Amino acid sequence: MVAPTQIGKYQIQGELGKGGMGVVWRGWDAAIARAVAIKCIDKSSYKGVELDELLQRFRQEAQVVGRLVHPRIVQIYDYLEDPQGAYIVMELVHGKPLSQHLAQGDQYEIHEVGQIIAQILDGIGYAHGHKVVHRDLKPSNILINNDGRIKINDFGIAHVEASTLTQMGDLLGTPHYMSPEQFLGKDITPLVDLFAIGVIAYELLTRNRPFTGNV
Ligand code: ADP
Ligand code: MG
Repeated sequence: MVAPTQIGKYQIQGELGKGGMGVVWRGWDAAIARAVAIKCIDKSSYKGVELDELLQRFRQEAQVVGRLVHPRIVQIYDYLEDPQGAYIVMELVHGKPLSQHLAQGDQYEIHEVGQIIAQILDGIGYAHGHKVVHRDLKPSNILINNDGRIKINDFGIAHVEASTLTQMGDLLGTPHYMSPEQFLGKDITPLVDLFAIGVIAYELLTRNRPFTGNV
């Protein structure tokens, strides 16, 4: 997708990153002078049923996460669609994904690992209290500021208990952090997030992943 100059009322000021679903732009809400992050799906990259399912998930992500208000969770501000794409407007986090910190070899002391994990548990505990399971916790979905505060991002395949959309996300997690029940397509419970947090803690402490499979 060519960088648009404007999406709805938001001016586009550049690219923040690329994710599994699409590009994330930096935007500017002139009405209230606030910088935002805008995650978009380029409709032309998908067709028919695939696009419908993706848009449904995207809308669901916006609605589900839009209800969650917590300092450790990236806040959703707005959702828009136009003929080119669908867009989730969210809080701009001044930091990098934990995956980038790991890739560049940043070292964490044991007490720092404890602080990171405690913050993830704080945010995820709040989400679980609101019957939302993240399902895709991994270092690229943990944004971390230079001062060490974290924000959980990308409840992309979040699952609301009793939702009719459950089957769709069943096998959409990331293998290294995915619980056995997710692999097996069994019922998802909040424990899948605790499994992923355990894997993240292991990786932060040892620099290895506990389960790598035949790679
Ligand atoms: P992934 O599929 O890797 O989880 P995302 O779509 O969640 O990707 O995000 C892609 C990249 O965009 C992230 O790695 C991050 O660098 C950047 N990004 C995403 N959301 C935000 C945000 N709210 N604030 C700042 N940067 C963000
Ligand atoms: Mg993500």
